[in-house]
Amino acid sequence: TSVQNSEAIERLIDIVRSRLHRKPVVVLSATANTTNTLIECAKIASGGNYEKAYDILRAIKEKHLRIVRELFCNNEKIINELSDKLKLIVDDLRDVVKGIYLLSELSQRSIAKVSSFGELFSTLIISYALNDRDIHTELIDARNFMVTNNNYSNAEPVFEEIIDKARKILQPYIDSGKVVVTQGFIAATSDGITTTFSRGGSDYSASVIGMALDAEEIEIWTDVDGILTADPRKVQNTKIIKEISFKEAAELAYFGAKVLHPSAILPAIEKNIPVRILNSCSPEKDGTLISSDIKTRSDKNRFLIKSITSKSNITVLNIYSPKMLLAYGFLKKVFEVFDKHETSVDLVTTSEVNVSVTLDNNAITGDGNLLEIEKELSVFSEVSVDKDKSLVCVVGSDLKYIPGITGRIFNSLNDYNISMISQGASIINISFVVDSKDLDLVLQTLHKEFFENDHNN
Ligand code: ASP
Ligand code: MG
Repeated sequence: TSVQNSEAIERLIDIVRSRLHRKPVVVLSATANTTNTLIECAKIASGGNYEKAYDILRAIKEKHLRIVRELFCNNEKIINELSDKLKLIVDDLRDVVKGIYLLSELSQRSIAKVSSFGELFSTLIISYALNDRDIHTELIDARNFMVTNNNYSNAEPVFEEIIDKARKILQPYIDSGKVVVTQGFIAATSDGITTTFSRGGSDYSASVIGMALDAEEIEIWTDVDGILTADPRKVQNTKIIKEISFKEAAELAYFGAKVLHPSAILPAIEKNIPVRILNSCSPEKDGTLISSDIKTRSDKNRFLIKSITSKSNITVLNIYSPKMLLAYGFLKKVFEVFDKHETSVDLVTTSEVNVSVTLDNNAITGDGNLLEIEKELSVFSEVSVDKDKSLVCVVGSDLKYIPGITGRIFNSLNDYNISMISQGASIINISFVVDSKDLDLVLQTLHKEFFENDHNN
């Protein structure tokens, strides 16, 4: 969305200009919705409707040509030159889509190829716009240095190669005072086959590049003011978190705080590079700073609890085995079953003869898989399944320093049914399970308790 139309691109140019003294590398996503549309187009082509796929391609081309006309309204020469280049890329895309149509087949490799075009369009246009506005820019195809494995549409970076290539290929331009522009999200195998990271992966690309080049800071420019104290679709009066630690942010990303790609901060953590989330529509706002140590910073005492998150739609399995009293190997047997079914478990609570685990419904590959798991566990235990449950997680790295914090959390939730209370050893989160029907009220109640009376926190 930060590059969705010519207005957004003008704002982006101002942002880049304001950072020139810091020698930025600009990592761009596709224009809003283009990646979705491209994937849709590929699906339609593989389903046999070439006409419709072709119409979609035409619309994508038109959308980008319109941006070009708006950005360079009085420069016919640039408009023509850039339009010709865009049309050549669209021709390539059309060939790929035609191939998918002819084969009626859509592999992950083809999906990666098709979805890479969104970033090719956006970077071409924006590198022209930057140069036109006197910001000396070099467009570098990410596939020249962003090396991944061949898990085509969900690829993993090969860090050693990326570090080596990014330094050789990007650094000289940066040193010469140019702004390097490159594509987020897209990459290539060492054989040069186009790959992509998972969806939303341009944040991740930026972080990988920042790590490879030892950047001073990684800025993620998005369309919200930063990371919020709770999901605004579920909770009212949410606030922006000013500063948050890597660990806390990782916890939130896992819980689906949509602001960041879940892996985006991992490369930054590696090199201890601060990550800032900023709003490209209001660049003057401070956003959220994610860094390793925030204890020494000014607002230490402001919000000890950083955020309240949740995962709706989980299943709880209670595994009870009185025979296991004082015997060993119970947990091993239990987890072997999950291992066999490649099902990941989120929260675990145990007593001597009972283990309860939560499973993310999205991670259960169909009902059959759950039934199988139940059946195998039943061989040595009694199993009960609770559906319609939700997981709530209170995140804050200083939780262990706050006397009475658990009391305060649960006192405020007296009216609700709570189970599986668990406090991670790192004590950056306290999690528990509630009935899904109560989730929104639980979140709102906790948010009120901790964020709506500032003096309390
Ligand atoms: N364009 C890609 C996507 O839509 C990557 C990104 O936007 O971060 O998933
Ligand atoms: Mg994005």
